[in-house]
Formats: sequence, structure tokens, C-alpha cells
Amino acid sequence: MAEVRTRFAPSPTGFLHLGGARTALFNWALARKEGGKFILRIEDTDVARSTEEAVEAILDGLRWLGLDWDEGPYFQSQRLEIYRKYALLLWEKGLAYECFCTPEELEERREKTMAQGINWRYDRKCWNLNEEEKEKLKREGRKPVLRFYIPPGETTFVDMLRGEVRFQNEELDDFVIMKSDGMPTYNFACVVDDALMKISHVIRGDDHISNTPRQVLLYQAFRFPIPQFAHIPMILGKDKARLSKRHGSPSVTYYRDQGYLPDALFNYLARLSWASGEEEKEIFSREEIVERFSLENVTKHPAVFDLDKLNWMNSVYIRQADNKYLCSILEEILVRRGRIKPEEITPSHREYWEKVIALMKERIKYVAQLEEEASYFFTEEVEFDPLAFEEVLQREGVEEILKECEEVLSQIEDFRAPVLEEAVREMAKERGMKAAQIIHPLRVAVSGKKVGPGLFELLEVLGKERVIGRIQRARQRIRETRSSGISGGG
Ligand code: GLU
Repeated sequence: MAEVRTRFAPSPTGFLHLGGARTALFNWALARKEGGKFILRIEDTDVARSTEEAVEAILDGLRWLGLDWDEGPYFQSQRLEIYRKYALLLWEKGLAYECFCTPEELEERREKTMAQGINWRYDRKCWNLNEEEKEKLKREGRKPVLRFYIPPGETTFVDMLRGEVRFQNEELDDFVIMKSDGMPTYNFACVVDDALMKISHVIRGDDHISNTPRQVLLYQAFRFPIPQFAHIPMILGKDKARLSKRHGSPSVTYYRDQGYLPDALFNYLARLSWASGEEEKEIFSREEIVERFSLENVTKHPAVFDLDKLNWMNSVYIRQADNKYLCSILEEILVRRGRIKPEEITPSHREYWEKVIALMKERIKYVAQLEEEASYFFTEEVEFDPLAFEEVLQREGVEEILKECEEVLSQIEDFRAPVLEEAVREMAKERGMKAAQIIHPLRVAVSGKKVGPGLFELLEVLGKERVIGRIQRARQRIRETRSSGISGGG
């Protein structure tokens, strides 16, 4: 069998979205499974819409997901001579022709045709021009586009997911292959490249399925071997609408920045429209996916993006992950969000963050949740949840309880959870109180919140100095609120 060569061919007009990443993943997985090659090609001939930032975002996203490519990135903008050469070839064979119609002229004729209730396709006005007429138009300064002449008949191809697909050629337009500025169109450059790059399998989104007969006709015109095609279903939101911001972000970068693990997103995207047939198995390593991957197991119906499921999967990966690794992700998040400057980070910060992670990794779905919902780990001053402050800290006698906590905890040298627990329980016993009557205010004093991880573990992670400082500030705040008569919070 010939070498399996797959490709991912994004247009760099925006970020890498989940649909694109899944397309890349399937191409990558097939190449890896078959010991073939995965090629990256940037389709940047739309100069007005392509940007360098988008190229960088796409490459970053692929690298982050571990979708390494064997060749490329090739840039179509650097291959213009090749497309011109191949366009000329078609023109010389009489399979392509110059068209001088301006967009305005085309629009006028289109409207007229549509008004008669007839579908518009290019009317071949310029196919019928003689040499003299063409020369005249060129002298007028008109720059022609090159159109591909669609032969009569029908075009079929086999889609690996859907079987045979049939198109009547008369439904297809004599489409433009080279624009008047000398740039190739997508369908044309794509075929030339897929052929020259010896792509064996074209796996892409099914939004391209109507392009495929046009491309097949080009392969036939050049007598290029035709690759296998697989058009994979779109990713939809739960409401069956095309995936967009409303369903959670569609951008891969967003998930990276929120502290999703690349292996988890990889697993999730793979499972989104592919099943290995093993019921109940959801967690697959990269190796397991590559081992099992086949296009036969790709589903035909649209995939539904489910953020809850991704969150669940990510939490499984977080629980299994190494704390140092999670810490490096947390560190990036803290820096990106301005909690700390990179030059301020010391080994003791890292040691502390690792403890935070060890304490919290069972409780989070993505790493940035720590910064978002447990910011008390990363700030000096605690921000009190107003309700917690009012309901717990402003109660009669709480300031005195905290005062005693401060005294008791100050005396503890070995600031570890079991020691702290014993001390607090002892204190409760002496005062004839329930431990909860101490635990609740203490939690709010050191975290600002009513809920969180186990209090004694939390105290241990925060460390003695922070804990004592926070108790003091909480007491002060209680006294201030009391004397001003207004309720606390903030
Ligand atoms: N540049 C096209 C896109 O981003 C590639 C489609 C294809 O894979 O042929 O949609």
C-alpha cells in the first residue's frame, strides 16, 4: 500500500477552533496509526483575511495539543509560481478560459436570471469570446480571471464515511481558479497542493463536501490520482446550532488559558465523533487513540460539544496529573492574569503553589478555577464574601472566638493539619462549644468564604504567618463594622 499522507490545511483567518483542531487530530491520528506522514499547509492566499497572528495561534494550538507535523508548514503564499504554472497548463489544454466579466456585470446578470426564477450559474459569456474580442477587452485594461470549464456529465466520489456521493455537473459553476490579481482560489490551490504533496487521504469538515466534486474534476483534468476523502461531521452546540461563543469558547487557546490539560482536550476532541467500540471507556491516552484509530469508527452524525463532559474529563486528567506539572500551568495563569510578575516568582512560591494544588486538585475542573474561585490562595488580603461576613463573622461573640484562635494558633510551632485540628477541638471542649462554632468563623476569616477544602488542611497550606495575619485583619474588620454600625463585606 502507498504511504499514508494526510494534511491539515487551515486558512489563517482566526484562532484555531475546536472543529479545526479535531480535523487536525483525525489527520494526525491516521498518519500515526499507519506509520505515514502528517503535513501542515497554511492556506493563506486570501491576503486580506490572513494574518501572522492567526498563523502563530494555529501553530501554537497544534503544538500545545501535541499534534506534531512531519512536513511543513508550507505556505501557499510562497507557492504562487506553482499555481500559475498549473493554471497555464489547463488553459493551454483548453480546459480553462479567461473571463473578463466584472463583478458588477455578473451581479446584474445574476439578478436578472434569479428574477425569472432560474438558478444562476456563470453563463459562459466569455467562453464564447473570440480572440479579437478578448484583445479588445485587454486593451481596455480589463484583467481576466481564469475559469475552469466544467464538462457535462456527473461527478462521483467515494466518501469514506458516507459512501458514494454524486453531483450533476450542470449544478456546478465554471468556477474561478485564478483571480485577476494572479492569486489562486481555494479549490484550485488545494488540488494542486494535495496532488504535489501526494496526499493520500483528505479528511476535512463536511462543510467542504460541495467543493469536493469541483476538486475531483480538477484532479481528472490534470490526470492526478484522486485521494480518498472523508468529510467529518460538524461540531454543534447542545442546541444543535453551529458551535460558537454561546456554547463555551470555540477557541483552543481559550482552553489552554483556562488550564485545561492538552491530553484531556485531545481525548475529548477525539471522542467527540469517534468511538473505539469499547462501551463505557472514555479515557484514552494518545497511544490508545492512535492504536485504535480508524475512519470506519468516525460517526456520521454531527458531534455535540458538551462543556460539562469536557470538564469532567479534564478533572479526571487533573487528578491523575503530577503536581509539578499542574503547578507550571497554574504559574502561567497567575502571570497571565497579573497576580504575579515572572521575575517575582521564587522557589518558595512554587513550593506553596504545589501545596495548594495537592489540596485542591480533587476539587477543580480546570486549573484557572483556583484563581477564579479560590483567589484567597494568591492574594495577601482576603476578600470577604459579603454574605459570609454578615452571617458568620458578625455574629455575637465571634470576634472573641477568633481572638482565642489567634492566641492558640500562635503558639503552635508544628503547623500541620492534625496538630491544628487537635488544638481547635481542645479549645472547643474547654469553652463547651461545638467545634463547628470555631471552624466556620475561622474558615471565613482566612478565606473569606463559607465553603472550601478541609479547614485544617487549608490552614496548613496557607501557613502560620498568613493565617495569623488574616485572623487579625478579620477581627479588625469586625470591630470596625461594629463601631460604624454598617454591615461588612467587600
Ligand atoms: N483552508 C481550508 C479551510 O480551512 C481547507 C479545507 C481543506 O481541508 O481542504 O477550511
